Amino acid sequence: MEKLIYLDYAASTPLDPEVEAQMLPYLRRVGNPSSIHTAGRHLKAAIEEARTTIAELLGAEPGQIIFPSGGTEADNQAIRGAVATWSISHILFNPTEHHAVLHTIESLSRAGKVQAHPIAVDAQGRIELTHLEELLRKYPRSLVAVMYANNEVGTLQPVETIAELTQRYEGLYLCDTVQVMGLGWVYLRDWPVDFIAASAHKFYGPRGVGFLYRRRPIESLITGGAQEREQRAGTENVAGIVGMAYALQKAYLRSSSYGRRLWELKTYLIERLRQDFPFVIFHGDISLEGSHPGILNFRFPSSIADDMLVLHLDLAHVCVSGTSACASGSGHPSHVLQAIGIPAEEAKRALRFSWGAETQMSDIDTALSALKSAIALPT
Ligand code: PLP
Repeated sequence: MEKLIYLDYAASTPLDPEVEAQMLPYLRRVGNPSSIHTAGRHLKAAIEEARTTIAELLGAEPGQIIFPSGGTEADNQAIRGAVATWSISHILFNPTEHHAVLHTIESLSRAGKVQAHPIAVDAQGRIELTHLEELLRKYPRSLVAVMYANNEVGTLQPVETIAELTQRYEGLYLCDTVQVMGLGWVYLRDWPVDFIAASAHKFYGPRGVGFLYRRRPIESLITGGAQEREQRAGTENVAGIVGMAYALQKAYLRSSSYGRRLWELKTYLIERLRQDFPFVIFHGDISLEGSHPGILNFRFPSSIADDMLVLHLDLAHVCVSGTSACASGSGHPSHVLQAIGIPAEEAKRALRFSWGAETQMSDIDTALSALKSAIALPT
């Protein structure tokens, strides 16, 4: 079989074999972590050890970390929990957030529980801090939702300033850190953020598990048993939690060399695209200081390419995305690109390349050759 060129790390990273090895004994071991007998206590101890590892890496207290099923649940829990616990009535949000955030806010707003206010963004998708401050002045004690790095275009947000501003107006800040957790950038001691959401399958851990940091306890989203100090009911995904903690440890150990390597690949991809496709149009911020080093989003004019490039590339065994993986089944043009002023028809032709630990420059070469053949097709 022809080698698969996987350039969709922002959708999901491969499971690190060392992480898998850590998980295997816990997949096999019998017991329920809530049981008080030896088998149960053993599993419970593994969960608490993972919690401590994650908390120490982030500069948090173990009790501030809970284990939901991934980034979507973590975002839901933070937003719904904050609204229920502190009677939040206004949410100020970045319109380029992931649907896990946007659809949750929409649902609360439709139910009449909150008023939602979009924060203005510039052409790169970065929020306008003056507009955020204006909104905070008008609606103090709001919940503010602005992600760290955008999952489609890679633009970074000024998260330290957002946290300070929100704190000044007695608000609560949720930062979706799903896309940056593998870069080892998050350290909470110096950063007054109230919630961060993370997902293990974005940093070489397993799918179906993540973590939520919350500065103070909030109402649980899922009711049932007393697991997770009554903050998240349901029998824990022990193997997933153990694997996630190990994956995060590895991410923090290799952080700067990993980031540098991703950035080298990005520089190479941008240069090659400019050389081979001078008509390429980049989306979002593509600078070293302002963007995720492992994500690039671009399109070609309609005279050159159709909106089926993702499929053409797939036929050539190159996996990329046209939008976020969660939205790609919907057929809707990206809300992120539309929020930064790109018309829907144009947004349909966008491609997102994202890469990681196993990507070689030769993979980028292969993908670009496939792209050349694809855009030579009659449109
Ligand atoms: N938030 C962001 C920024 C994401 O990129 C994703 C997934 O792509 C999620 C949340 C959802 O995470 P999960 O797939 O773990 O539910």
